[in-house]
Amino acid sequence: MDIFRAMAENGHEQLIFNYDRTSGLRMIIALHDTTLGPGLGGMRNWHYDSEDDAIADALRLSRGMTYKNAFAGIDFGGSKCVIFNDPDEKSDLLLRAAGRFVEMLGGRIYTGEDVGLTPDDVEVMAQSTRYLVGRPHKSGDPSKAAALGTYASICASLEHVFGEADPKGRRIAIQGAGNVGSDLARRLAADGAELVICDVRPERAQSAAAATGAKVVAPDAIYDVECDVFSPCALGLSVSPDTIGRLHTRIICGSANNQLAIPEMAEELRRRGILYAPDFIVNGGGIVNIADEFEEGGYNHARAFARVERIGERLRQVFLRAEAEGVTTEVAAERIAEDRISALAQQQRHFMPRRD
Ligand code: NAD
Repeated sequence: MDIFRAMAENGHEQLIFNYDRTSGLRMIIALHDTTLGPGLGGMRNWHYDSEDDAIADALRLSRGMTYKNAFAGIDFGGSKCVIFNDPDEKSDLLLRAAGRFVEMLGGRIYTGEDVGLTPDDVEVMAQSTRYLVGRPHKSGDPSKAAALGTYASICASLEHVFGEADPKGRRIAIQGAGNVGSDLARRLAADGAELVICDVRPERAQSAAAATGAKVVAPDAIYDVECDVFSPCALGLSVSPDTIGRLHTRIICGSANNQLAIPEMAEELRRRGILYAPDFIVNGGGIVNIADEFEEGGYNHARAFARVERIGERLRQVFLRAEAEGVTTEVAAERIAEDRISALAQQQRHFMPRRD
């Protein structure tokens, strides 16, 4: 890979290669844009086929965090840490080494749990760095905040399409009954929505159905459900050339990352008159909740959740801008995020979060 060219393509600031000879740790830290503040993004521990794949993932994910954080209205830039050892060989030694490299950056980045790491792993890392977020004694498990942000996004999408935000009587198909999907189902059921749910682990779908009265369908059948909202809350890539023709919905709005299998799907959804609420906005509740840790006096649950609910208002601006400029909702959201970054870049003002 031509690394400098790859960095220049999307304007990455820094790519840091870290190696620890004792544990064998190999970790890449990518900083995309830190105009708004220090980089904030999780640490991923994944098996990559090659070094180039690991670099490409670190670049892609850190750029995604810039937009996610900027759009969420928090004062953080985009970064991501990628460990590319065999994920099964995770040792305390390796985790402490990863923490040490984060610590060396002295607050340029903050990180936390992501794919391939557990909350316990983060606690091991905490032995060697202070720059961790989402720990149990601070903002903790972000999935409830992610579910609330998804709920607020569904209400805003309903209002845009039907002129009425209330989910009562709306048919909503939820793909994935995990932490976010099941909490989202609970909220929507309390409003009187008619729910259909699925999960590749049937016991999860059954347990969400028992709590909410949802109808359970087989995982593949979720694409054929006639509904007002299709809500992908599983592992992503739900909207693809294979599935798009099967979707009978007016809205796609869910928490899963990377819902569009290929970028062209955004334009295709627009052409078909299906409103797509961009995933990186909808699932921003997790990061908004985490950012509250940096407020004076530390994390406050009520304040953080009130901010998460405002994701709905932000999404309304995206829908309006997309319509006004004749672009997809993804492009409109990126433009709003870029406006925020460039306005601050011109002022040359930098926010320094409190350390404790
Ligand atoms: P989770 O692992 O608790 O739940 C995901 C569920 O999806 C699991 O029950 C799994 O069995 C199911 N699933 C996987 N593939 C499926 C398929 N093809 N069809 C149906 N079900 C399938 O994860 P979560 O925390 O609920 O997160 C859900 C999504 O939201 C993920 O994409 C995650 O990246 C994203 N997200 C989560 C958070 C958070 O704070 N938890 C924050 C932002 C984004």
